[in-house]
Amino acid sequence: MSHSYDRVALIGLGLIASSMFWAMKRAGLAGEVTGYARSQETRDTAREIGLCDVVYDTAAEAVAGADLVVLCVPVGAMDSAAREIAPALKQGATVSDVGSVKRAVINAVAPHLPDGVHFVPAHPLAGTEHSGPRSGFAELFDERWCLIVPVEGSDETAIATLERFWQKLGSKTDRMAPDHHDRVLAVTSHAPHLIAYTMVGVADDLSRVTDSEVINYSAAGFRDFTRIAASDPTMWRDVFLNNKDATLEILGRFTEELFALQRAIRKGDGDLLHDYFTRTRAIRRDIIDAGQDTDAPNFGRSKT
Ligand code: NAP
Repeated sequence: MSHSYDRVALIGLGLIASSMFWAMKRAGLAGEVTGYARSQETRDTAREIGLCDVVYDTAAEAVAGADLVVLCVPVGAMDSAAREIAPALKQGATVSDVGSVKRAVINAVAPHLPDGVHFVPAHPLAGTEHSGPRSGFAELFDERWCLIVPVEGSDETAIATLERFWQKLGSKTDRMAPDHHDRVLAVTSHAPHLIAYTMVGVADDLSRVTDSEVINYSAAGFRDFTRIAASDPTMWRDVFLNNKDATLEILGRFTEELFALQRAIRKGDGDLLHDYFTRTRAIRRDIIDAGQDTDAPNFGRSKT
């Protein structure tokens, strides 16, 4: 298979970057993949496990000569990462990112990039609750969406090449405008994460429920919340700080619905509850039909 890019640089070497690396190797997608992470510990781990063909001690060295540079750091660290790489970028290179929020990342990165460099933001809708250089695997993006979020003036050839690259990593791709992306993700990902964090926090606070009861009898619902609430704290802090308006809007609506359901329970309005749950069940069916989850009783996840 022909290379999409001769040289790819990954800045930040956690779950997403390491999964991209293994998926690139699986597909024979890049000539050479270079990498950089801020901590010596992560760089040492990457060298030990063969994550990247070469791991550099500075971001500038890693991006020198790269045709594609992908920023794989938390959303709040995009500004300083862009600042660090900007002077070392090759003319004609494409800079992309995988951040979970798009408007804030575009505002943080675009001003630093020199003329003659193409900026094509992206967001793979795939992840796990694990993080760090050892957590990645080649199959992470298979059959998952990767949203390509071009900015004004993004070069069409650069966009199309990045799109094909993500398709070869296993993803389905779609294009979306930045603000629309942030609203969609507030509904599908950001607000649900906050709700899961809250629910697990509530269970943790309930002094009448002992720790062992919460853990032993967690199968019915709570366990899935705990998986989501185990996600990386830095990443999720940055998501909420940087997708503030859209998340607050959805949480406002969520609170209204919660009050309505609370009132239905208090009034014994079984019809309302039944109708509501019938509607939500249909959404689950649509997700399974769209191939975005399995209907196995354990949600297709292993027991461990
Ligand atoms: P991760 O596994 O926690 O790895 C983060 C990487 O960024 C590490 O190499 C870390 O370096 C580096 N980093 C952290 N803080 C930094 C800072 N202040 N300055 C410079 N580098 C810093 O994270 P990830 O899950 O791969 O997430 C990376 C990006 O992908 C985030 O923007 C996230 O929003 C997005 N994303 C995540 C998921 C998901 O489910 N995890 C899904 C889609 C998109 P050290 O190891 O040296 O500390």
